[in-house]
Amino acid sequence: MPKQVFFATLGTETNSFSPIPAGWNVWRDTLLRRRSDGRAPADRNQHHLAPLWTLSEQRGWTLTPGLQAFAAPSGITPAPVWASLRDELLADLAAAEPADAVLLHLHGAMIADGCVDCEGQLLAAVRNQVGPNVPIGALLDLHCHLTPAMVEHADLLFGYREYPHVDTFTRLAELLTALIDTAQGRIHPRMALADCALVGMFPTTPPAMAALVDRFRAASRAPGMVDVWLGHGFPWGDVPDLGMRVLAIADGDSGQARRWALDLASECFDLRETIAGFPATLEAALDAAAAEPHGTVVIADTADNTGGGAPGDSTFFLRALLDRGLDAAALGPLYDPGAVRICQDAGLGARLSLRLGGKLAPESGSPVDVRVEVIGLADRLLQTLNAAPANLGACAGVRVLLDGDRPGPAVVLASRRIQAGSPELFTGLGIEPGAQRLLVVKSTQHFHAGFAPLASRILYAGEPGALAGDPRRIPYRHAPRAALWPLASAARPRGLLT
Ligand SMILES: [Zn+2]
Repeated sequence: MPKQVFFATLGTETNSFSPIPAGWNVWRDTLLRRRSDGRAPADRNQHHLAPLWTLSEQRGWTLTPGLQAFAAPSGITPAPVWASLRDELLADLAAAEPADAVLLHLHGAMIADGCVDCEGQLLAAVRNQVGPNVPIGALLDLHCHLTPAMVEHADLLFGYREYPHVDTFTRLAELLTALIDTAQGRIHPRMALADCALVGMFPTTPPAMAALVDRFRAASRAPGMVDVWLGHGFPWGDVPDLGMRVLAIADGDSGQARRWALDLASECFDLRETIAGFPATLEAALDAAAAEPHGTVVIADTADNTGGGAPGDSTFFLRALLDRGLDAAALGPLYDPGAVRICQDAGLGARLSLRLGGKLAPESGSPVDVRVEVIGLADRLLQTLNAAPANLGACAGVRVLLDGDRPGPAVVLASRRIQAGSPELFTGLGIEPGAQRLLVVKSTQHFHAGFAPLASRILYAGEPGALAGDPRRIPYRHAPRAALWPLASAARPRGLLT
């Protein structure tokens, strides 16, 4: 009988300060496929997962999917939702037993009401269920809080290397290979975790971070090493394990894993002034865009990135575009399901008054009352986000009409809270991104993969809005402030954590 690897997905990125809890609808709107649906929770027809099946078969293994659940970044997951999802995954695992290996796609920054380390708790429960001899591998988002509990209860922890996360499913396949190697006794992973004493957001597209990613890739290929990667941490997760950390995995030699983890953690700390960037203000970003002589300037509205748990309906940029009278400009996605419905009812070409955004939280600013023309409608608008399709739900494209009905900026209104991923977000509603002088996208970095090819310049704006771009302005209560740069200028790496 072929060996069996059980595969499940469970995760979300929790912003402790977000006003929107990760309740059931957030999971349903993002990814919730379960055994009880009467179909396989995952299958090889899903383009991004197909390599897992191919790989398993090449090794003579079968892949048995269980619960597939992911929630777009939001606030705390309510306790009953977390307990239900966790127990469902464990029940799926029990139904698949005897599993010979367990492959989990988690996030690493999930917080539930009453649990600050959901992944650590889940891995402990899985270990308890399968016993010490079945290898457990988990893939984490690089925006994770790597904890000693996760390291203790898993055999292999892999993370994405790239931000934007263009390598998510490549890394999942690499992890599956290492997991089967472990189950077959070809490798004997030994993990070590070291602290870098840094907090912030670190896109991997600028040269210094791109070089660091290469450095980790090279370290992973060093003799005797299985993998080495960098957990960036997630600044809006207010947890005791906040911060950048290095996870090194050696083959059979714990000392070697510890040496690599320590060395690379201090290298990262030494680069802190180079790799930490703080986004500009909205006004400064708009001034810089106006000074750009030609092409399409893309401004990331990072402060309202739903991918970091922000509401997604802030109006600060829209207000500023109107105040400046900008016309060859487009903005999106602005989360406003009510406005989408009104546009759908009115129909394509309709002109009407509309109240846009500013509805979910004080951090969203005030609603903006405008006259618009409906220029595009879609029942289900798809874009690409992190190498996978992502659904913006029913959407409407509107052109704001300025004084005297002069055409102003175009706005993409979405009925799902999701960040900008690719230009289809505009083209799907008849808005040509390359024809704009300015595109404002609500995203921190994931937009980069899709929009860089058409941008003459990319700018990042960090305020105003829900996600303060500078971690020194985040009102932490549980994070170790004194141990993290730049919160404390004297902070230094604390060395090995496991
Ligand atoms: Zn991430």
